[in-house]
Amino acid sequence: MRTKKRSVSAVVRCSICGREIASGEEYWVCTDCLPDLARQELLPCRVLRGKEDRL
Ligand SMILES: [Zn+2]
Repeated sequence: MRTKKRSVSAVVRCSICGREIASGEEYWVCTDCLPDLARQELLPCRVLRGKEDRL
């Protein structure tokens, strides 16, 4: 593991379960929680099949 200077506080943790997000992962929640988060975040955007006339 490299100890080269690199903001120590740069550890990012999943804001839902607290799992550490590995460098290279782009999410603020881990991939385990992402589907749940996406579902919640997109809830207001959902449309009922057959009632898409809002769009
Ligand atoms: Zn998580």
